[in-house]
Amino acid sequence: MFGEEFRMQRERMVEGLRSRYQIKDERVLNAMREVPRHVFVPEALQSRAYGDHALPIAASQTISQPYIVARMSELLELTKESRVLEIGAGSGYQTAILAKLAAQVFAIERIAELAREAQARIRSLGIYNATVKCFDGTFGWNAHAPYNGVLVAAGGPEVPEPLVAQLKIGGRLVIPVGPTREAQSLVRVIRNEEGYEREDHGPCAFVPLIGRYGWTTDETK
Ligand code: SAH
Repeated sequence: MFGEEFRMQRERMVEGLRSRYQIKDERVLNAMREVPRHVFVPEALQSRAYGDHALPIAASQTISQPYIVARMSELLELTKESRVLEIGAGSGYQTAILAKLAAQVFAIERIAELAREAQARIRSLGIYNATVKCFDGTFGWNAHAPYNGVLVAAGGPEVPEPLVAQLKIGGRLVIPVGPTREAQSLVRVIRNEEGYEREDHGPCAFVPLIGRYGWTTDETK
């Protein structure tokens, strides 16, 4: 019964992504139709899981707005063969979406409790091509590099150099970058033979990226 209600809400969310936000990638829309977003939010907020907004999760962090998840996924231009690195797994929702779009997802989350729960949720949905580990993701994850796509779900002062270095030629990195912790632009970096090109995809607001190549101290706590 409940499951059916969420299925209809999910369908409406996907229609909104298409009509209101011009998300066109059918693979992304399908992944968002499949993954049960309500599983990734605190139980008390489940009825709001499919709304057009971010929601709070544990440890003062947030699950990103559905539009942002769709947009960042679309900008990565993944295929079934892609290997992806995600920084800031949080609830694991974006991780699950990436797992539907790519061959393998390596996800990093700096808060141990969130990393553990994200991994458990993903497994409970029968997704086995995504691994969540707990450490400072601004260093990247060199053991599995190079990546076709890197997605950073937290805002930093600049693009962390190790993440660019771990991109394949032709690979894409999507990250919110801004001079303050409060506001960022969504930046896409595409690596090429000579170096890389950088595009600006408009304003956004994420929780801070904290680490060696991010903001240095955690003033949000
Ligand atoms: N895509 C996630 C977004 C979670 S918010 C979701 O939709 O649920 C961003 C997350 O980035 C937070 O959980 C925060 O703890 C994490 N984070 C911040 N800095 C990080 C770092 N250096 N390495 C790994 N994770 C980091």
